[in-house]
Amino acid sequence: MTRFLFLNNSMKTFFFLLVLGMTTQLANSQFSKTLFNSYDSYKFNDISTRRFKHADLMNYLEILKKSLGDLIQVEQIGSSAENRSINLLMLGTGKMKIFMWSQMHGDEPTATMGLLDLLNYISKNKNSSEIKKILSETTLLIIPMLNPDGAERFQRRTSQGIDMNRDALRLQTPEARILKATRDRFNPEIGFNLHDQDPRYSVGDKGTVAVISLLAPAYNVEKSDNVVRTRAKKLASELTLVLQQFVDNHIGKYDDTFEPRAFGDNIQKWGTSVVLIESGGWKDDNEKMFIRKLNCVGLLSVFHSIATNAYEKTSVDVYENIPMNTKNLFDLIIEKATILFSDGRSSIIADIAVNVEEIHDPSGTVWKGRIVDVGDLSVFSANEKWNGTGRSIDASLVEMNDIVSIEELKNIFQK
Ligand SMILES: [Zn+2]
Repeated sequence: MTRFLFLNNSMKTFFFLLVLGMTTQLANSQFSKTLFNSYDSYKFNDISTRRFKHADLMNYLEILKKSLGDLIQVEQIGSSAENRSINLLMLGTGKMKIFMWSQMHGDEPTATMGLLDLLNYISKNKNSSEIKKILSETTLLIIPMLNPDGAERFQRRTSQGIDMNRDALRLQTPEARILKATRDRFNPEIGFNLHDQDPRYSVGDKGTVAVISLLAPAYNVEKSDNVVRTRAKKLASELTLVLQQFVDNHIGKYDDTFEPRAFGDNIQKWGTSVVLIESGGWKDDNEKMFIRKLNCVGLLSVFHSIATNAYEKTSVDVYENIPMNTKNLFDLIIEKATILFSDGRSSIIADIAVNVEEIHDPSGTVWKGRIVDVGDLSVFSANEKWNGTGRSIDASLVEMNDIVSIEELKNIFQK
């Protein structure tokens, strides 16, 4: 205590800020843990499949309008090519504007579901110090489901057959024009571009699945840094620190090659610090419900970091050091199985790679295996590996691209 008195004022300020900074970061990690641990109490329980459509979204928005009352404004900002409404949700009165849009690719709904949970958390915790802070320091501008026609068909492209994320310059699709006009209307400081990626990307060459991949997109071919992109990198670092608490090293970095036609790259160029969030894969989570939870917890935690300015102290190195997304992962590899040919005499030893896919048949949509590679697959990783040594399978069952029953494979290789 007496020693403290001998410190000069600037040193006192330094220590005060240091302690304050540590306290804010600690507070934020506590907040994200609370969000994660209490998720079941505020998520929308009746959303259990990725195939919810525009009509479902509108139902949930009605529920949220009632529960949030004055805290939310919902404005129809346009319509899709097939005349489905595209809506902007606005919350908060703060000067820092945070813009986010989900599902510009119709079959990428994970973040849309996470955003609905996030809004439900806000409605149930209006008076908590964290939510009050977020709503007083920031303005949240949210477009959920930017491509409702694609969502209706569960397809990437719009109903006009265009990949909206290659339409940022020509702006031929009504949906792309809505996104551009909304960005220009608010000129937000921060943006989150919310997508899904193939669930079989791994983190670097370690073979661990990438549950979320992040990117602070480049705004030029040289991939230079400026104030706008550096802020995006800090936000990506902050998000990484939040998520690593729950998924360790399962965060990947998305390729930052400049794509002149994409929205993320251009919005960064237009002056909004953008982070791309790609929802990837997780074992036994075909419907991506766990990843939906990570979107909700991650975004809300980062909003709090923005509201308290805590993210500004986070080093860009956390983001820079994330290993790149790599495509060397299968769902299942059966190692060194014996494959028997129909002549009954010849056989080979081979690894068999199987991915689990949604298959549409008259009974509806079912998850089945597809044979995606056969041979020496020793350089690849898998979410699950079975030892096939000493077990044999008929060659006709493991032809490339064949659909197989996982149960049948289990009977052969795991009994
Ligand atoms: Zn996408």
